[in-house]
Amino acid sequence: MHELSLTQNLVAIAEEHARKAGAVVIRSITLEVGELSGAIPEALEFAFDVCSKGTLAEGAVLTIRRVPGHGRCAVCAAETACHELSAVCPACGALGFELATGTELRLLELEID
Ligand SMILES: [Zn+2]
Repeated sequence: MHELSLTQNLVAIAEEHARKAGAVVIRSITLEVGELSGAIPEALEFAFDVCSKGTLAEGAVLTIRRVPGHGRCAVCAAETACHELSAVCPACGALGFELATGTELRLLELEID
C-alpha cells in the first residue's frame, strides 16, 4: 500500500512545519489529492490514523480535498475533464493532451497550536 509511505512523508512534513512554528499539537491537516494522483482517499485516511500515532498530528482532523483531472489539448485546444493518466485528447483523440490538474498530492493547510 503506497499510501502508507506517502502519508508517513506528509506527517513528517507537517510535524517539521509545526515544530518550526513552535507548536505542540497539530489540530488539522488538509490534503489536496488529485483524482489522477493514484492515491485513494480512504486509504490515506486509514494510513493517517496509523502514521500519526505518537506524533504531533495524533488526533488531528484530516480533510481531503479532491481535485478533478482537467487539462488542455495542444492539438484541438479543447479544455476538458480527464479521468485517466493519458496524453490522448478525450475530444479529438490526438496525442497532445496535457493535464493541468488532477495529479497533485500535497499538504494544503495546517492548523497548529
Ligand atoms: Zn484534442
